Parts: sequence; structure tokens; C-alpha cells
Amino acid sequence: MSDVYAEPTTGADPTDPATLARYTTLRLGGPAGRLEIATSADEIVRRVREAEAREQAVLLLAGGSNVVIGDQGFPGTVVLIRSRGLRVVAEDADTVTVRVEAGEPWDDLVAATVERGWSGLECLSGIPGSAGATPIQNVGAYGQEVAETIVAVEAYDRTEGKVVRIAAADCGFAYRGSVFKYSDRWVVLSVDFRLTRSPLSGPVRYAELARALGVEVGDRVPLADARATVRRLRAGKGMVLDAQDPDTWSVGSFFTNPVLEREAYELLRERAADLGEPPSWPCPGDTVKVSAAWLIDKAGFGKGYTGPEGVAISTKHTLALTNHTGTASTAALVALAREIRDGVQTRFGVTLHPEPVLINCTI
Ligand SMILES: Cc1cc2nc3c(=O)[nH]c(=O)nc-3n(C[C@H](O)[C@H](O)[C@H](O)COP(=O)(O)OP(=O)(O)OC[C@H]3O[C@@H](n4cnc5c(N)ncnc54)[C@H](O)[C@@H]3O)c2cc1C
Repeated sequence: MSDVYAEPTTGADPTDPATLARYTTLRLGGPAGRLEIATSADEIVRRVREAEAREQAVLLLAGGSNVVIGDQGFPGTVVLIRSRGLRVVAEDADTVTVRVEAGEPWDDLVAATVERGWSGLECLSGIPGSAGATPIQNVGAYGQEVAETIVAVEAYDRTEGKVVRIAAADCGFAYRGSVFKYSDRWVVLSVDFRLTRSPLSGPVRYAELARALGVEVGDRVPLADARATVRRLRAGKGMVLDAQDPDTWSVGSFFTNPVLEREAYELLRERAADLGEPPSWPCPGDTVKVSAAWLIDKAGFGKGYTGPEGVAISTKHTLALTNHTGTASTAALVALAREIRDGVQTRFGVTLHPEPVLINCTI
């Protein structure tokens, strides 16, 4: 069973200063102007339209695992997405297309696909949050990303006022990005994933995962083995939610891996000459992706580094910033993020960018 996100408390006062902290994995975020719960696609659309009729801003919140919400909260309407369900909408001898409601807990979906022998999501095991949020930043891990299996997204288009089907080719999927990220226009209602009927995973692409599985990169392994091994590796890094483990009270990676033009990459190598070769991966267009975790660590911010009010770098992973005590403020968290970003900039001349969506706060 996965770590299912918080269910709303009925009758609670949304203007309570601790309201949104209850619905974020960082346990941070101030009050809401209004808090609505939507348990179906129709209800999500209705709640959004009602807020628009009241001329209120809307914040869609599902698992709260990729948002940093300011201490002053969100003065408009927060719609908690809690729709559930999945069904097969197309199939042939080799593939199955499954339509998943936006609020379906992501890891429950992955577990169900692995159980049924549908290959394509197994390396994304253990990622918190909802299925509907996965297209937002093209969720990825261990060499897999949802752009590879999403065929279409059904969304409410707030500009046109109607429900539309957006083909994957029009989603603008990129490394931790899409047309949906930082856009108020789209409300994802369901996502169609096309998966392969196979008891085996896709070729394992990630060296660390291959090593842990005892296979070569490019080999395939039973789906259940891939899932179990990914979850084990993730848990060791504090990357599976655990109410008992404050290292997981985070948004996962706080910064994306910077993608540098060749010239900037060569400059980085010069500035890092005394530290050895920066871990990097070649990318399209003669660009190079560099490990943000390495840059942060080598700039002097190691695991366990603490900032104001006890916010900290996870003791298990350099990229995760945690509200370790559970009592800090968003102001403290963003102050730590700023210190790290500025430290990396000064040491290496590389600018780190936050991966989560920042709401009423900035670094
Ligand atoms: C411990 C940990 C590990 C993580 N590991 C990974 C990882 O390996 N790879 C990875 O990619 N991410 C990772 N994440 C980040 C996060 O889990 C994913 O981005 C996840 O998809 C967010 O889902 P959510 O439902 O929690 O979204 P939320 O945090 O609720 O929302 C995120 C953003 O999406 C918007 N949104 C949410 N639902 C909808 C919708 N239906 N329609 C339109 N907009 C919507 C929100 O308004 C917000 O802007 C990790 C986070 C944590 C805490």
C-alpha cells in the first residue's frame, strides 16, 4: 500500500494559519481563503467554475508533494483533487491504454499496473502525489518519465471554458516540464497511459538501478523486481514518504539538474578542476546536464546542513530540503534554498532553478 495523501478534515476552518501545511509533504503553507474538495472530474470543473464566478484565484492541490506555499497561504479557493479510478479504454494484443482520474494516488496506480503485467511505469514506483500531477512536470526517475507512456491528457481549459483532449505531442513535455507547469489555464481531469503487456520491465537505463538488480544496463527484469528495487533505493535516500522519517518531509529534489550550453559546461569544468570531473550527461543540441546534488555538495552544503528554524538538507540526499522539525516556516525554507543557490552560483557560476511550484513565495 502506498503513502496516500491527507484527506480533508470536514468542518475545519480554512483560514486557520496551519491549513495548507496539512496538505503538503513539506508540512508548510498558511491559510486558504476557501477550501473545496472535488471527488470527480465533474466536481473539479464545477468547483473551478464556481471560484471563477466569485472572481477568486484558484489553486489546484492534489498530493501537495511538489509545491512550496508561502506562510501567508493562498487567499483564493484551493481545490483539493480527490477523484479516483482507472479503467481500460483501449487494448490490443501488445498494449493496454488505461485512463486514470487525476486524484488517483500515483503509487497505487504503479502497483496496480505492475500487478497486472503492464510495463511502462515500474521505475516510477514510490513517487508521491497524484496521477493527474504527473504530466505537470513530466515526472521521472531511474531512467523513465511519464512522457514515454502518456498518450493524452483530458483537461478543463479555463481560457475556452470547455473540456479538451490534449495529445501527448501537444503537451510540450521536457525535462521536469510541460505546457501545464506554471500555467493556470489547464485543469488536468484524467490521463491516458499506453502500457505494454509484458511481465518484464523496459530496458533498465539507470546504472545504479542495474547494479542494485544485479543486471547490465539495457537488460529487462520482472516488473515486481524493478518496483521493489526502485522503492528500496528510494527509501534509502528518503525519497519515499514516511511519516516517521523527517528526511522525507520535503518536495523530493528541490532543484533541477542544470542543463548547460557547451561553453558554460567547459567553464564549470575549469572552476571545478580541483574537485575532479563534475558528473554529467550529454543532452540534445550539444548541451550537458550536470548533477545539482554534486554542485551543492561541493559548494559546501553537505547532507544534514541546517538552515534557520531547523530546516535542513536531508541527511540522506543532498537535493532534498526538509522541514526536519515539522515546525519551521516557508520563509526559513526559502532562505535555505536561496543560500544554497547563491553559494553554488558564487563557487561554480551555475544557476540552480527550483523544481517545485512556488506559490506566494520566491527564492
Ligand atoms: C519524497 C519525494 C520524492 C519525490 N520524487 C520525485 C521523483 O523521483 N520524480 C519526480 O518527477 N518528482 C518527484 N517528487 C515530486 C512530486 O512527488 C511529483 O511532482 C508529483 O507528481 C506531484 O504530485 P502532487 O499530486 O503531489 O502535486 P501537487 O504538489 O499537489 O501539485 C503540484 C503542481 O501541480 C498542479 N496540479 C496538481 N494537480 C493538478 C491537476 N489535476 N491539474 C492541473 N494542475 C495540477 C498544482 O497546482 C501544482 O502547481 C517527489 C516528491 C517527494 C515529496
